[in-house]
Amino acid sequence: MRKLIIAGSLVIIVAVVAYAAVTRLQAKSAGDSSSQDVARATLDPALFQGKVHDAYLAAARYPAVLVQLHCYCGCDKVEGHRSLLDCYRDRHATTCPVCIGEALLAAKMTGDGAPVEQIRDAIRTRYAHGE
Ligand SMILES: [Zn+2]
Repeated sequence: MRKLIIAGSLVIIVAVVAYAAVTRLQAKSAGDSSSQDVARATLDPALFQGKVHDAYLAAARYPAVLVQLHCYCGCDKVEGHRSLLDCYRDRHATTCPVCIGEALLAAKMTGDGAPVEQIRDAIRTRYAHGE
């Protein structure tokens, strides 16, 4: 009987500790909006073909890079997008040459080892004044 009580209280302690850890984790991710942004998935590249497929693949592969880049197609004002990654969470990017071009450029430069600052500059130079 005593063993049972000890085992029972152990279970409760473990549950309380686990609950506290989960709550702390949730509080942490709520405070850190950029990691929360990355966690929200992009659409499956397999839904698309050609350049659009490649662009969605780039977004799926490098979300941490795209979330730091601005999309110059105007979607920040029209759709409320906060980063280039947002364009790949729905079908917005399928018909947008700016979104596609930016993601492909970002993926290529990331693959070449370029830092995000350099990618941001390259995208600004090429797309900031419209295409
Ligand atoms: Zn866009």
